[in-house]
Amino acid sequence: MATQRILDFLATRRPDGPCLVVDLDIVEDNFNAFRKALPDSAIFYAVKANPAPEVLRLLASLGSNFDCASVAEVEMALEAGATAKRISYGNTIKKERDIARAHALGVSLFAVDCVEEVEKVARAAPGARVFCRVLTDGEGAEWPLSRKFGCVPTMAIDVLVHADALGLIATGVSFHVGSQQTDTQAWDAAIADAKYVFEALADKGIVLTLVNMGGGFPTRYLKDVPTASAYGQAIFASLRKHFGNRLPETIIEPGRGMVGDAGVIKAEVVLVSKKSAEDANRWVYLDIGKFGGLAETMDEAIRYPMVTKHDGERTEPCVVAGPTCDSADVLYEKTPYPLPISLTVGDEVLIEGTGAYTTTYASVAFNGIEPLRAYVI
Ligand SMILES: *Cc1c(COP(=O)(O)O)cnc(C)c1O
Repeated sequence: MATQRILDFLATRRPDGPCLVVDLDIVEDNFNAFRKALPDSAIFYAVKANPAPEVLRLLASLGSNFDCASVAEVEMALEAGATAKRISYGNTIKKERDIARAHALGVSLFAVDCVEEVEKVARAAPGARVFCRVLTDGEGAEWPLSRKFGCVPTMAIDVLVHADALGLIATGVSFHVGSQQTDTQAWDAAIADAKYVFEALADKGIVLTLVNMGGGFPTRYLKDVPTASAYGQAIFASLRKHFGNRLPETIIEPGRGMVGDAGVIKAEVVLVSKKSAEDANRWVYLDIGKFGGLAETMDEAIRYPMVTKHDGERTEPCVVAGPTCDSADVLYEKTPYPLPISLTVGDEVLIEGTGAYTTTYASVAFNGIEPLRAYVI
């Protein structure tokens, strides 16, 4: 949402070119909402969603922990004031020397999803704690994380037994139900899988303690989404259902839900045209597209709200495209986007809900366009 602080910033600073403005007050509200929704779960912010130093420093000061996917992200979290104990290396795909570097920095909690990765961790971070990621079907998610990460629960048992045998601390199970998950019940099947792995390991004398319930919490784009508290209630009910009174330690790793609605991209209309006199759709070209940070419009998966000064006037379906010389740089075409007919060259367009997964996806210099600038206020 374009908060008054963001609107005031844009009105007074008038930055040229496309840029993201992030309102830290919204990040703080989101953090507090997660803490209230799941008071017994530790929060590990997924750094990749928006690693701006100001965001990381705020979250570190509020008591957040950090889910990192690389040594560089570990260093950013440390720089922001987190101790190594508050960092999880949550990527299941790591170079052995990066595991060693993270371990040397004090990180002692690692994700794995196969015995090959367990062997790397055992060599590079002896004695560390590991959790095994299980697959989920990603149903209900607008940005599913598919089959790239995780293994089936029966394999997770072998992976954790192997970790234990190699002197690692087999700590628990993790999963991610898919990003922009709009179904509050989506965690249930994965929590059942976690319980199944816990029991199988207990039978072998290995006591697991941790369920890492990942991210997936949505940002409001064009449609309403359930509140953090609705997710908290559904998740807590599933934990009770499957684990009874012996609840495990739990963590959540919100990324999008922590920062998505805290950011707005200011863009500008560069061209409005048609492809033929009879063309039903106008083409609206903005000064930002897929290569400028809006990569999540891939397959038109994420539909961002766009605000213009002509809102309320009559609209027409438009194809919305970016400014670069690549025909893949079209944001919405299969489902054209209704925009005011009076929208014209030079008009400002505010693209809302863009605090997550934008700045880091921007290309370095495609067509000489600089990476997306960000102001954190
Ligand atoms: C990306 C990621 C997250 C954050 O997911 P969101 O859907 O943005 O909340 C959390 N955990 C892991 C392991 C991830 O890779």
